[in-house]
Amino acid sequence: MIEAIIGREHGTNCLVMTIGNNKVKLSANGAVPNTVSSTHCRLNIDDSGRWVLTNIKAALYTYVDGIQIESKRIQPTCRVELGVDHFPVDMSKVKAAIEEMQPVVYSLKPLKAVWEKYHNTQIRMQLDEKKKNVNRMLTGVLSPISMILFILPYVMKVEIPDWVNALRLIIASLMALMSLYFFIQSRRGLKDDIILRMDRLNEDFRSKYRCPNPKCNKFLGNQPYDLLKELNQCPYCHCKFKS
Ligand SMILES: [Zn+2]
Repeated sequence: MIEAIIGREHGTNCLVMTIGNNKVKLSANGAVPNTVSSTHCRLNIDDSGRWVLTNIKAALYTYVDGIQIESKRIQPTCRVELGVDHFPVDMSKVKAAIEEMQPVVYSLKPLKAVWEKYHNTQIRMQLDEKKKNVNRMLTGVLSPISMILFILPYVMKVEIPDWVNALRLIIASLMALMSLYFFIQSRRGLKDDIILRMDRLNEDFRSKYRCPNPKCNKFLGNQPYDLLKELNQCPYCHCKFKS
């Protein structure tokens, strides 16, 4: 929603359009007759792009395509004149100024892809880490079991048949091999270092998860994608987003 006031600037006698704190010159200095007031008419543009022109004071005159109006929906191509002297408003300048002030809407789609990649990789890395932890745990459990199996008959000094002895040896060797395997696996896991991989992932995320408005480009890391979608605007520059 944009609200613009059009009128003659005191001192310069130039036609100006004021939108908030912005002032746009619509004519040369000294060009505007005194029959045009400083707050002569108001132009409202709603979110769907509808232009409505309103004559502010009854004692003033505003014309659209030659007809005096109080309030009227207009097009940027309409001929607008102010005051009894029919001073023409340069509508091409009005249109250009409005277009410049209209907020640009940025697509959130690229950010969605970046967020999903980051999030999914993070989850995968955590699951990998869990798996490695289970292996480490198994190593811790299997090693003492194989030791006990091996030593127990000697400690208890019991006679055991040869076939049981052979079986015991096979199981103990298998367990020893397995614990060795898990031990090597977990060492290898430590080498390719989850911290380094996490760091690379974070760096990539920090460089890409940024406000799509090139004038802002701030890192939006504290805002999960769903929250950004809900906010529908950048928390820093307040530019609009569409998902
Ligand atoms: Zn921003």
